[in-house]
Amino acid sequence: MITKIIFVLIDCVAILDMYFTLKATDRIKEDYGKWLSQAMLAGIFAIFSNILIAFAFNPIIAKVAYAFYFASINWILLYLSAFCLSYTEHHYLLKKLSVPAIVLMILDTVSISLNLFFEHVFYIYQSTDGSGAIFYQTGFKIPYYIHLAIDYTALVIALFAIIYKIIRTQSIYRAKYTIILSVLMLVVLLNVMYMAFGLLLDSSVIFYAVAGTLIYFCIRILVPRSIMNITMGRALDDVNEGLILFDLNDDCIYANAFSRQRFNINESEYGFECEPVSSVIKSLSDKGLKYGNETYVRSAQPESPVAEEHYNIRYNELTDDNGISIGSYFLIEDTTEEFYYLQEIKDAKNAADAASRAKSTFLANMSHEIRTPLNSVLGLNEMILRSTDDPKLIEYANSIRTSGDTLLSLISDILDFSKIEANRMDVITDEYEPHQILRDCHNYFGGMAAEKGLYLNINCDENIPSKLTGDKKLIKQIMANIISNAVKYTKKGGVTVDLKTSDNENGKCDLIIDISDTGIGISSEDKELLFDAFRRVNEKENATIQGTGLGLAITKELISLMHGSISVDSIRDKGSAFHVIIPQKISDPTPAGKFDLNTKAPAGDGSGELFHAPNVNVLIVDDAKLNLMVAKELLKRTQVITDTAGGGAEAIEKCKDTRYDVILLDHRMPEPDGIETFRVISSEGINTDTPVIMLTANVVSGAESEYANMGFAGYLSKPIKSKELEEMLIRLLPDDKIELLTGND
Ligand code: ADP
Repeated sequence: MITKIIFVLIDCVAILDMYFTLKATDRIKEDYGKWLSQAMLAGIFAIFSNILIAFAFNPIIAKVAYAFYFASINWILLYLSAFCLSYTEHHYLLKKLSVPAIVLMILDTVSISLNLFFEHVFYIYQSTDGSGAIFYQTGFKIPYYIHLAIDYTALVIALFAIIYKIIRTQSIYRAKYTIILSVLMLVVLLNVMYMAFGLLLDSSVIFYAVAGTLIYFCIRILVPRSIMNITMGRALDDVNEGLILFDLNDDCIYANAFSRQRFNINESEYGFECEPVSSVIKSLSDKGLKYGNETYVRSAQPESPVAEEHYNIRYNELTDDNGISIGSYFLIEDTTEEFYYLQEIKDAKNAADAASRAKSTFLANMSHEIRTPLNSVLGLNEMILRSTDDPKLIEYANSIRTSGDTLLSLISDILDFSKIEANRMDVITDEYEPHQILRDCHNYFGGMAAEKGLYLNINCDENIPSKLTGDKKLIKQIMANIISNAVKYTKKGGVTVDLKTSDNENGKCDLIIDISDTGIGISSEDKELLFDAFRRVNEKENATIQGTGLGLAITKELISLMHGSISVDSIRDKGSAFHVIIPQKISDPTPAGKFDLNTKAPAGDGSGELFHAPNVNVLIVDDAKLNLMVAKELLKRTQVITDTAGGGAEAIEKCKDTRYDVILLDHRMPEPDGIETFRVISSEGINTDTPVIMLTANVVSGAESEYANMGFAGYLSKPIKSKELEEMLIRLLPDDKIELLTGND
């Protein structure tokens, strides 16, 4: 009886095992997983019949149970070999054999079933064990051996399929098939050994249960793990980065090819005391860190084209899914190429910056050097004009003035163009009145147009906002370029300027400037070239008109700097119309009203002084004697009292005991220069609050705002224009000391 109980217990364990394996087979590839699950199902049937055999209480039940048992084993083997064929990719063979095999199995099953009536396969006989328990056992007839032969043929085919695959497979995948073969061989061996014992009850089916579980375990875990280990190792060897793994005892367990080769690592001897990991750990601990990123630099190999090798090394902890530490790793990235590339970029940038600085300095110097003597030339020429009535001399002096002005505008244009090219032209926005810009334009060009017998009409939309925000200096420069061209290239008629704005849209609008003339016009082919730098169109006709071909190129660039646009309409011999749109912000939307040319603006066309101020004391500081003389002479007609200083030291001395109303100060002077002199004057003595005007030939980008930031009350560029100087003095001097002259228009 005990034998039977043990036997049933073993069977129950086998059933559970098969059941769980069966449930798990959907986790393996369907191709062969389905065969394994069928085998497990047949196995469960076999074990149930086995239990029935143990408890059969008469030979008929025993005979039925045995028939079930033998038939189930048949199907187990059929499915197992189908699994083997599928797993070893013998799909063709499987397809060919499956129909005859199934037919054969069905016939065999039918034959075993008929044994119930004919007993032609096996017969039942009764025996007892020592305790007297009854066992029904089988005796076999010839067809049983045919049945066995069918079973074993299926098994043999499967074994051969696997062996064939092992022979054919060259790669590590051979292991995958070898594992399955070993499992099957083990099962066969156990089966044979079991049969040799000739036990009372046949429980060989449990080996199939074990086989199924083993196969499942191999396919799901063992094979993928072993393949993964090998392939991962190969993949990591192929990676162009280093990986070194350490276990919890800080023993090196793995180093990929990159780290082995670069740092001569032998896993069994490598440890935390070796480079580069020792340096990384030390640098991290110096920073109070256990893990992190560090750079590591070492001398390059002698044959290397670079002097140093640079690495970025990451040291981190390795944890399992539950966050428990299982070791640590170093990830090594070679950053040498990147380092030298960045170095090159930095060097190139420094060189470019140096070149750009050199160019700017050269421009500033050149501009300064040309403007300084030009200041004397034009200033003294002005003196001649003011002090003579001789028509011949006046004609010569006027020619000098025109040429001087042309030379000056040429220098300004070249400087502007270089600034734009070097991206150094700044857009400095501020609040301004559109009417004031128009008045300035009229002041500049009214006289010039009148001299040529042309009219200059300036109109402004009454609804234009009274105050806008934008770069008024650039807008004036743009308008000045276009108006001066219009005057230059017009012989009869005149120039009309129209100013308006688009509707207010969220505090923004477009400033729309239309400047048209009745001049020589531009042909449609020339229109395309109009905005090209250094390009003058219609050269023959314009040969006598001064110009560089830079004005419109600069104009266009300035407009696009402010995100605006320019277009031109022109008809040969009829005239041209330039249309400019520049987006601006509205600071005061109140309509500016009717445009009046004469409001507030100091009168004068440049030929006469704007004011008299006999009680005003002005100090002029310049190291160039001629410039001192020019400034002094230019101011003479305003009746101000002028005092001069030939350098900063003298100016500081004079400022100690004389109180001035305004000081005109040159920038570039021998020690102390204009800035230092200003600093001293404005911090000690009795002129600390005297307005100081920077009078300089330094007109590079941003100079004006730099001087303003330093505290200068005004900025005038050389050569001095007496009108500009007088206007600035009107602005800076107290009203009660000035007598404005209005009859100079
Ligand atoms: P320039 O210094 O020669 O005036 P610009 O760039 O200002 O250079 O102008 C380029 C060319 O466009 C001029 O040489 C001239 O032929 C033509 N041009 C510009 N404005 C006008 C105009 N209002 N009428 C006719 N031609 C013009």
